[in-house]
Amino acid sequence: MTHSRAIAAVALAGLTLTACGTPTESSSDPTPSPTPPPTASPAPVAQLAIVPPSLVDGLDTLVEEDFGPGRVTFATLPVVPGADPLTDAIQQVIDADLDRFRADTEAASEPPFPELVVTWDLVGVSPEAVGVRVRTTELFATGDDGRVAITWFDPASGDPRDSVDLVEDVDALADRVAEAAETDPRIDPALLDDELATGADAFDAMAFTTEGDLAIEFDQGHVAAPTLGPVIIAVDPDGLLSAFGQAAAEAAQDPTDPGLAPATPDPTPPATAAPDVAVPDASDVDCSQEQCVALTFDDGPVSGTSDLLDVMAEKGVRATFFVVGSNAAAQPDILARMVTEGHVVGNHTEDHPDLTKLDTDAVRAELEQVNDTVEAATGQRPVLVRPPYGATNSTVDQVTGELGMAQVLWNVDPEDWKDRDSDIVTRRVLSSTAGGNIVLSHDIHETTRDAYAAIIDGLRDQGYTLVTVPQLLGSLEPGQRYYSR
Ligand code: ZN
Repeated sequence: MTHSRAIAAVALAGLTLTACGTPTESSSDPTPSPTPPPTASPAPVAQLAIVPPSLVDGLDTLVEEDFGPGRVTFATLPVVPGADPLTDAIQQVIDADLDRFRADTEAASEPPFPELVVTWDLVGVSPEAVGVRVRTTELFATGDDGRVAITWFDPASGDPRDSVDLVEDVDALADRVAEAAETDPRIDPALLDDELATGADAFDAMAFTTEGDLAIEFDQGHVAAPTLGPVIIAVDPDGLLSAFGQAAAEAAQDPTDPGLAPATPDPTPPATAAPDVAVPDASDVDCSQEQCVALTFDDGPVSGTSDLLDVMAEKGVRATFFVVGSNAAAQPDILARMVTEGHVVGNHTEDHPDLTKLDTDAVRAELEQVNDTVEAATGQRPVLVRPPYGATNSTVDQVTGELGMAQVLWNVDPEDWKDRDSDIVTRRVLSSTAGGNIVLSHDIHETTRDAYAAIIDGLRDQGYTLVTVPQLLGSLEPGQRYYSR
């Protein structure tokens, strides 16, 4: 394993295990529990208190993606209703990272491409404080990957707050961190000294642990070996916290919906468009006889996905949605609606990395967390995987095989992520689709969602029957790759 691969695998697996800095041992057990017990370590590793995004009514996600050529980025960020200044502040953190990544990396002419992945967690929510952790991971780029920033928001003033605002006195905090680090074998004292010498800059990622301690998270390689990923040092918050810090601590320990947006009518009414939505039944379509086409949508869901579901309900079409972790976690109602209305929900990984850069444990973690999220929302565990960027290899074959999942690629790509134009997307799909094809699109883009009424009508005019991927392909073999019928 190269150094870069080690960092990538640990960084992403660490995220999936909620900031656990210790990589799990590889296991021959094909069905490990989603949260394996911590491996033996000298001291218990502090876990950040993470709030499920479904707790925040109306929370949406923004996705910013750039699929190349030569360099790829995929960033998601939460949009907490009624907290626009928070969204803007997070956006600034992400934009700075994207700018730096583009400046620091050269586009590659062939894979593996330099890659930046940005993911997020809620680390506290209440009417008094909202905290968002943004994590940036670079895969095969400059090597200084694994950055973390935590931005807080004070609804009373309407202002974003830096992590350092959680404490009264930065020097007292630094002393307590240094003291805690003395008994922590992960910490390199010389690195920590350098880091603490930067003053407030060292404390741009602070939240709380599941035990209620103040958690100071340091970027990868800043205070410990890079292979550990970002590292959390937890300290007793007694006497350190500001008034806002105390509100933040409560928002982490006892999270409640901040309810910051004025009440609006439910934007996602149950399907009323179609009087009788058919339950999926593979027996009602025979794709060996009919000219079938499978419509597939990646990277969502977002709140706007419900508009696309409205169109599909009205036209009686079922599709296949490959969902990304944080978006799926934020939209359990949309996932449930998909299944109720006969669509198929597949797995598009937790963080949207190029899976060919990860080891087996990291690939498994990327897939299992989304499976857990979808199962919790819908009662059904996905059996289809779409590897991000269509990037797959023997490791992905092996892990998907062990998980009983089939890989679904595509053979029609209208490049709707690049050309945000409904007419162009419609024209490309209608001119390049044939019977047995799998069409790729992205439901996170309004221009794509708006195109699908015309695409559905156009494909039907051409004689195609629109089906889900399982209907198109029939029986699927775990681990296999499918590009079309
Ligand atoms: Zn994708």
